Amino acid sequence: MPVLTIESLRKDYGRIQALKGVSFSVPKGCVFGILGPNGSGKTTLLGVISDILKPTAGSYKLFDEEPADHHRRQIGTFLETPNFYHYLSAVQNLTISAAIKQRGEDDIEKVLETVNLAQRKNSRFSTYSLGMKQRLAIASCLLGSPDVLVLDEPTNGLDPVGIAETRELIKKLAQQGKTIIMASHLLDEVEKVCTHVAILKKGELVTTGKVDEILANEDIVEVGAADLGRLQQAARQLHGYSSMKQSESILQFYYPLGTANLENVNRFFFEQNIVLNHLQLKKKSLESKFFELTN
Ligand code: ATP
Repeated sequence: MPVLTIESLRKDYGRIQALKGVSFSVPKGCVFGILGPNGSGKTTLLGVISDILKPTAGSYKLFDEEPADHHRRQIGTFLETPNFYHYLSAVQNLTISAAIKQRGEDDIEKVLETVNLAQRKNSRFSTYSLGMKQRLAIASCLLGSPDVLVLDEPTNGLDPVGIAETRELIKKLAQQGKTIIMASHLLDEVEKVCTHVAILKKGELVTTGKVDEILANEDIVEVGAADLGRLQQAARQLHGYSSMKQSESILQFYYPLGTANLENVNRFFFEQNIVLNHLQLKKKSLESKFFELTN
């Protein structure tokens, strides 16, 4: 069952068309990345599905039904770093959040444990690093144990350690069975964390689907050998690939999906008296696919 289905969603801000009829659905249990360059409409889309913005046209369903309050209670939202009280501790801030949201007062200790802030739960918010502040924001989303989390650029502004911690946290929440919908403009982040993706460009959907399937429309076989000249010469006799590229001291052979066979490639070069020092089956990086799709 999809947790979210968007149908022909449009949002205009005066003359600016932020979303131009976007449709896709988010299956239960996935980590769904909404990816796109700055200004492509990611935040607007999350704003609409969180009931903060009214769409100009189109509709969406939550858990396959018309959106209602009982659906929204199953969704934790983190759209911007919330204004926690600087002079209060994590526990005190979450007590206030729970009162405002009217949910999850009993969960406070548990969610602080989940986001790895239990040891600092009584320190003032003002003493937290940015990474800890972001994790407290995620903890606040987790109050009431929602099934779905909606996160806008959850690693924005964090240092590499903070980014890694947040990624691990997202993976952990996904393993616990939560569906996570997150906007990002970081390709690498989406590739590392997300199972599914929708790519937006100037308010339009470019593509959507499983990350693996979007990336893996070709097999890429990389080979290397001490004598690159001989390797190139021998490669002329190799069959089955559709194109070949050279990347520094490595040759890349592009095969139609599912047709590359590393053993055959290895045997072929060995029979040509070439011993490979590199042989690897690779998929396209999301970065190259993204630039291919968005020019
Ligand atoms: P970013 O990665 O920079 O946050 P985004 O993909 O989230 O970008 P949006 O913030 O949704 O994109 O913006 C989409 C378009 O709508 C942009 O052209 C933006 O300038 C415009 N826009 C967003 N909010 C408003 C607003 N309140 N009033 C007018 N235009 C807006």
